[in-house]
Amino acid sequence: MTLSTEKPLGHGAMLARLEDTAAAVAEQRAHRLAHAMLLAGPAGVGKYRSALWWSGRLKCSQRDTCAGETCRDCRQIAAGSHPDVTVLAPAAEGDALYIENVRDLIRLMSLRPIRPGPRIAIVRDAEALTPQAQSAMLKLLEEPPGFAVLILVSGNAAALLPTIRSRCQLLRFGLLEAEDVRRILEAHGQEPVLAARLARASGGRAGRAVALTPEGLADRDVILAAYEDIHAGRKSAIDELVLDLAARRKEGRPGLEALLEWQMRKVEASFVGSSTSEGIDAREAEAGEDEDPADLLQEAVRIAWAMRALDRNGNPKLVLRELLLGVRDR
Ligand SMILES: [Zn+2]
Repeated sequence: MTLSTEKPLGHGAMLARLEDTAAAVAEQRAHRLAHAMLLAGPAGVGKYRSALWWSGRLKCSQRDTCAGETCRDCRQIAAGSHPDVTVLAPAAEGDALYIENVRDLIRLMSLRPIRPGPRIAIVRDAEALTPQAQSAMLKLLEEPPGFAVLILVSGNAAALLPTIRSRCQLLRFGLLEAEDVRRILEAHGQEPVLAARLARASGGRAGRAVALTPEGLADRDVILAAYEDIHAGRKSAIDELVLDLAARRKEGRPGLEALLEWQMRKVEASFVGSSTSEGIDAREAEAGEDEDPADLLQEAVRIAWAMRALDRNGNPKLVLRELLLGVRDR
């Protein structure tokens, strides 16, 4: 998906509030913005897009008519070449952001903006800031120049120093509705039937839906079907599924994580019921129907525990076997 300053889909109320703030400042009904914001929430739900969009709202030279790519400001923000909008991000996924990066940023943020509106810095994956880098960042938060707006974006805000968090206005992003993910995919040219399926498999994360290919989706279905077979006692081939899940984990293919999402949708379906379950995959509704939500939830917790045990280097075969035996014996 290409980046722009277009308004992201979803998160309606929160984005509307931000828009009001930007309008109030532009129309001089208010003259002060929060100088630091923290956009926190799960990966793939549009936090960074929202940061770009909001930067556009603050800098766009044709506020009333620009659809996000009409004016030079918006185009440059999207391209990362706007003189007043700086994006700081790790060089590659998993890389850290260092104190030198923050010092450079602070120097830049002390310069008056060249065009109307604030000088903006967006820090992407802010949890990648090393502790030293975070301490340096505190300086900017404690004595920000009047024209500076700092936007921290983080999928793991708990990794930020409490002193950083407390100086930022917190905007908490939740998961997207499947319907919003579907609209996002269609807006990016995905064919409608596949868009609907990918949206349901996305767990509320448009970013993940985009990464899912039809092959990935089919691969996910294989593991869900095997799990349901064991669940329903139609199949006792636990060892086979243990090996499959262990291999999937090694290869980064959908495995336990997909099972957990599936299970949570069953929990949802057990509450809502299939007759009113608009937007819930019929199969999930069927699988969750007539089951006790508490039982379903307990099973979800067991899957989550298994994921945690594996993250802590538990023996994959033992952990997975124990999980699946529990499923069968319910
Ligand atoms: Zn614009």
